[in-house]
Amino acid sequence: ALTEMNAMPWFGMDIGGTLSKLVFFEPKDAISEKTEDETQLMSNVTKYLTKNSAYGKSGHRDAHQQMDNVKICNRIGTLHFIRFPTSEMNNFLELAKRKGMAASVSTVCATGGGAFKFEENFKNELNLKLCKCDELDSLIRGLLFTVASNNNECYFWSQCTEDEQCSTQEYTFQYNKYPFIVVNIGSGVSVLAVYGPNNYKRISGTSIGGGTFLGLCSLLTGCNTFEEAIELAANGDNTKVDKLVRDIYGGSYSRFGLPGELVASSFGHMNSKEKRAQVSREDLARATLVTITNNIASIARMCALNERIDRVCFVGNFLRVNPISMKLLSHAMDYWSNGSQKAIFLNHEGYFGAIGCLLSFDE
Ligand code: ADP
Repeated sequence: ALTEMNAMPWFGMDIGGTLSKLVFFEPKDAISEKTEDETQLMSNVTKYLTKNSAYGKSGHRDAHQQMDNVKICNRIGTLHFIRFPTSEMNNFLELAKRKGMAASVSTVCATGGGAFKFEENFKNELNLKLCKCDELDSLIRGLLFTVASNNNECYFWSQCTEDEQCSTQEYTFQYNKYPFIVVNIGSGVSVLAVYGPNNYKRISGTSIGGGTFLGLCSLLTGCNTFEEAIELAANGDNTKVDKLVRDIYGGSYSRFGLPGELVASSFGHMNSKEKRAQVSREDLARATLVTITNNIASIARMCALNERIDRVCFVGNFLRVNPISMKLLSHAMDYWSNGSQKAIFLNHEGYFGAIGCLLSFDE
């Protein structure tokens, strides 16, 4: 099995509820023992994947996330990152077949629910056996590996007092110091407490996650993509939709330290016909984003407090092109903990499961 697994190229796949993530290792060192067939197949697949940044109608390569000079299994090479909607799985399988991707490997490491759901499809359509890994094991393994290989993987938002002043700053994450918390915001949310490289537990989760944001936002605004939803939110004002403390108190509720600008009731204005007539799609998108994000922040804070852990890493594709949520999470963690809890973000936000899965080659 090991020789099968070691046939090039190496893929790791994370087939999630919304997005499928494909990580692919391109060796860059000269190694003599490659067979001619392997070299030929390799170069065809590699060429197709690396010369393009779009595949079919909905596949994308995230070139800005490419990792060079990575060492895996004693080989040096480049990690490439590709994603497509899981709903396009049939088209992916067809394309993979046409491009001979499946002929060059016999086993692919896969994780996420789709590794189970689509196992038969991979077998029947590509004659490909999926080597299944657990998604949370893969997530932690991929995260630890990436942070260890990349000096500038982590960052935080500084000066996140409410709005715009805020900017990103590199964060030196002492990944070999435990514990820390990982909040994975995908379609749903999982919260993990990590105590060591092979020691973590899933302490909480919520079904109100990135999928909820996109679902509700689509219903409320008629938007068609995540990017569009984020763009709408960026131009909206949630205070037209949400009822704030000051709408109720006329100012702050100072006895319990609640500022006037705090949301007291998400969507609380929307029972009024008059207010409904005044809101735009942008305002509704912003309120949806703020509601979902603040709820996640609140769960993350309680988990961190409960476990007495102060470093919280937020990952998952909900944070893709989404500075609004990152700033909100940063501000919420900082403000409500009096600066003791820290929100940390990672450049390869949604790819850790797929990376960790690919690393099972290294066992
Ligand atoms: P999963 O493994 O559950 O698919 P991900 O970490 O890939 O989770 O995150 C999926 C979430 O990321 C979506 O629910 C959505 O909020 C957000 N997202 C970011 N980019 C996209 C995109 N291009 N298409 C759909 N959802 C996206």
